Amino acid sequence: MTRSIAFIGLGHMGGPMAANLVTAGHRVRAYDLVAAALDTAAEAGVEPAGSAAEAVADAEVVITMLPAGRHVLDLYDDILGAARPGTLFVDCSTIDVTDARTAHERAAAAGMRSLDAPVSGGVVGAEAATLTFMVGGGEAEFAEAEVLLAALGKRSVHCGGAGAGQAAKICNNMILGVSMIAVSEAFVLAESLGLSHQALYDVASAASGQCWALTVNCPVPGPVPGSPANRDYRPGFATSLMAKDLGLAANAARAGGVQAELGLRAAELYAAYAQGAGAAEDFSGVVRTIRNQSGA
Ligand code: NAD
Repeated sequence: MTRSIAFIGLGHMGGPMAANLVTAGHRVRAYDLVAAALDTAAEAGVEPAGSAAEAVADAEVVITMLPAGRHVLDLYDDILGAARPGTLFVDCSTIDVTDARTAHERAAAAGMRSLDAPVSGGVVGAEAATLTFMVGGGEAEFAEAEVLLAALGKRSVHCGGAGAGQAAKICNNMILGVSMIAVSEAFVLAESLGLSHQALYDVASAASGQCWALTVNCPVPGPVPGSPANRDYRPGFATSLMAKDLGLAANAARAGGVQAELGLRAAELYAAYAQGAGAAEDFSGVVRTIRNQSGA
């Protein structure tokens, strides 16, 4: 069924997502503060709007893909009054759980329906329409959005009520961030003990050390030829984004009094690695920081 969709935020992720909605046969009116992003989207068949409020005016569904919570809340303040009552707002940005809940509250107060629906899969997944959506909000809203999100990804998981999608995203990325550091420390320890990368990989990948950080995104070159380490840590998943997500996880842990010592430490390590050139590298490049700090 063709739907009328407003798409706000046409950056690395939003640009290809909006294009995929057009490919799926939907009418997409879009807006971005950056004119060049709007031009690129127009080439893919998106209808450019003069403002976000104009884009949402006759939309059935509004999708946002913005940098952070403050952008989402500011934008919602601008556009909630411009949309038709009952419009479904789907925020796919990765934002603070508290901000996500506030966005839901503001949408409801304005007579709108809403979901938080952050993604994993990166720019490659956005382009190939293979994203995974983690969704928070009501059952009926999820059922309606699931059909639409199928044009953008391979899987949508309903995680619970308002903010549950964001909660799932930061919890998953805390596991990933910590496990990458654990795998990296093990490789640096192996180096100091004279154990080859391949030997550690052959044992750990078939034993209890097995995890995605080891067997898919292996932080040293060699054992997994497709991992970013084999291309000088070209992402993959940029360290700046991991630092952002772990910052959100750390905030949530502190706010909830959760003793997430490794998660908090991982947030510090990625934040340090994200200073300077490391920001644009794959997060598995954190192994180099660990090696340097080890004096190796
Ligand atoms: P990006 O910076 O490339 O794009 C954000 C876009 O939003 C920009 O084009 C910007 O001009 C636009 N924007 C900001 N404020 C706006 C406003 N008020 N009105 C209209 N447009 C506005 O970021 P991205 O890489 O596309 O990421 C978007 C979100 O997706 C982030 O929350 C990020 O954490 C999350 N995410 C990114 C990746 C990734 O690999 N890039 C992966 C998963 C999740």
